[in-house]
Amino acid sequence: MNQIEILKYLEEQKTTRTITDLIVHCTATKPGAKVNVDVIDGWHKERGFKKQPQSGRICGYHFVVLPDGTIETGRYLSEIGAHVSGQNSRSIGICYVGGLDANGKAADTRTPEQKEALIWLLSRLVVMFPDATIKGHRDYSPDLNGDGIIEPWEFVKECPCFNAAIEYSNI
Ligand SMILES: [Zn+2]
Repeated sequence: MNQIEILKYLEEQKTTRTITDLIVHCTATKPGAKVNVDVIDGWHKERGFKKQPQSGRICGYHFVVLPDGTIETGRYLSEIGAHVSGQNSRSIGICYVGGLDANGKAADTRTPEQKEALIWLLSRLVVMFPDATIKGHRDYSPDLNGDGIIEPWEFVKECPCFNAAIEYSNI
């Protein structure tokens, strides 16, 4: 969707959920990987995530930001996401496509278009949810809370491969 379509989408989104956290993720894919919300639907179907009744999405995120800056919608804001264990009911998940360099190492691969789109989207969400804090997935790292569980399907310690809490502290 373009920005005008996203604004209309957000206006139509109603949720009674209390949102305390806006959580940024990456797909942990290499540059050039053809990933979008439909592809993530497939990944998350394999992981056993349930298709959501209203949005029709399986994807655990609420938004996906493509390398060209296009914002795709995943689960509706009223639908609880599936992106950070223990944090889903009070959060919104925003995922950009990327996060690995060509060698498969964690890297901040955000394109200028993605950076701009992420700031734009997060700014809109902060208006909707003024009490919410922006963080990166790694800020919930098991190493930080000491529960010792590492989810094998994602680079929990790295995601989203940049310091979202600091970079977005003034939004
Ligand atoms: Zn993540």
